Amino acid sequence: MAPVSISKETDYLVIGGGSGGLASARMASSKFGTKAMIVEGARLGGTCVNVGCVPKKITFNAAAIAETLHDAKPYGFSVQETAPFDWATFKQKRDAYVKRLNGIYERNLEKDQVEYVHGWARLLSRHEVEVTLDDGSKQVVRAKKILVAVGGNPTVPPQIPGAELGTNSDGFFDIATLPKKVALVGAGYIAVEFAGMFNALGVETHLFIRHDTFLRHFDPMVQETVTAEYERLGVHLHKQSSPSRVEKDDGSGRLRMHYKDKDGEAVLSDIDHLIWAIGRTPATKDIGLEAAGVELDDKGYIKVDKYQNTAVDNIFALGDVTGQVELTPVAIAAGRRLAHRLFGGPEFSALHLDYANIPSVVFAHPEVGSIGLTEPQAVEKYGRDQVKVYSTSFTAMYYAMMEADHKGPTKYKLVCVGPEEKVVGLHILGLGSGEMLQGFGVAVKMGATKKDFDNVVAIHPTSAEELVTLK
Ligand code: FAD
Ligand code: NDP
Repeated sequence: MAPVSISKETDYLVIGGGSGGLASARMASSKFGTKAMIVEGARLGGTCVNVGCVPKKITFNAAAIAETLHDAKPYGFSVQETAPFDWATFKQKRDAYVKRLNGIYERNLEKDQVEYVHGWARLLSRHEVEVTLDDGSKQVVRAKKILVAVGGNPTVPPQIPGAELGTNSDGFFDIATLPKKVALVGAGYIAVEFAGMFNALGVETHLFIRHDTFLRHFDPMVQETVTAEYERLGVHLHKQSSPSRVEKDDGSGRLRMHYKDKDGEAVLSDIDHLIWAIGRTPATKDIGLEAAGVELDDKGYIKVDKYQNTAVDNIFALGDVTGQVELTPVAIAAGRRLAHRLFGGPEFSALHLDYANIPSVVFAHPEVGSIGLTEPQAVEKYGRDQVKVYSTSFTAMYYAMMEADHKGPTKYKLVCVGPEEKVVGLHILGLGSGEMLQGFGVAVKMGATKKDFDNVVAIHPTSAEELVTLK
């Protein structure tokens, strides 16, 4: 293999070719002509493109089609309600799509004249980064400014015997054939999204949570309704549970999980895949951050101020590695703003991302959308007497042709404060919530009041119209 030659010096060295790193490096080079280099050790696009948002949403789409097939009969179609699903072919096509994206990202870097180096980076000092290239050789690059955007990895499961027999969200995307039975441990975005998809695709799905509800960072309306809906849809919810041991059946290769819940000890057998989805851990270990003077918090996240400055004045960090809001558009927005601030001149010297009122969607069944404060957070911040809540619960017209046991919930809530009833929180669940939230996010970010919502003429017949007609 011919030795790879890379620049020995650069103005902006970005470690991590994920959502945040790519956005920042490309903006710095294409808009401001900065000499930029990006070092990526795995696949371009990072978590989102390879083992996150993109392949997840494609799988969610497949699950949504399965649900639509199920719903077709009440609308008069003679379709096979539980049509066989060819997971293996689906996976192949999904992998090919992701691979195409990897290529597009590489070409975009070329087009924007960002030097792309495939290798693993480690800081030697505040200006020097050692890169281990694919051929094992090491090269040192001197950089005026360094951005650390290395993201994170699935959190290692608890220390229980056999935990390593399970997998995590990365492993989910390697599953080659449609499983019969899966177990997931966790109660956040990933556990809830994966459990919903498996269940919709006809897989016997067991979800182990530590409490009585999941998505506990969301408004109580969301937690309670979606948890109950999962049970209605047939997800086997193991509440107040904790796994104690995992074993493999040598004959079948399937897993057995011992666990405790409020009824005592129990065992779940014949599990094809056990997936730990208990959060993510920043990829900050052994990459020389401490030696360079970058400060980490007690969970290993890089400490940054609102400008993405670390404790070292030429080193910056953003995205998942800072443990703020772990979402792709957040990393991208922070990355682009940082490039403006560092290289765009005085006009952008105060530019930074405002982390308040960031909308997010859980691709659950049904979809959940949320922006701003939950009701309890608003009460805590402003006092009960300052908070007024408007909410509605109804059956979307989509379900008009269906029997009662086919109808899913739709619930919306506006959390308003003060005499002007400023909307400080908006929480929605139901069909189409994922697409609905973006526009309402603009309104909340602009400081809309309940009256502003009321002033909009409704679009009929939609579910969204209920949000501008709340009483
Ligand atoms: P990453 O995208 O993780 O990129 C970091 C990159 O740095 C990686 O490619 C890594 O290989 C590289 N790297 C690490 N260390 C080094 C090193 N020493 N040298 C060189 N390279 C290194 N967000 C959403 O907004 N919507 C969703 O629907 C969504 N779904 C998700 C589903 C799943 C299953 C997961 C796991 C995440 C999901 N996310 C979603 C979150 C989203 O993927 C992350 O918030 C986003 O990718 C963070 O971007 P980042 O740039 O901070 O890090
Ligand atoms: P989350 O932080 O969302 O949730 C993890 C949850 O698992 C915890 O809140 C906790 O809930 C539970 N948990 C923690 N430790 C244990 C344990 N030892 N045993 C059992 N349960 C445990 O992490 P995820 O891994 O789901 O996702 C990581 C991040 O990725 C998300 O926070 C989100 O930012 C991003 N993401 C975004 C998506 C989107 O935008 N649609 C989709 C997927 C991921 P409890 O305290 O209730 O037990």
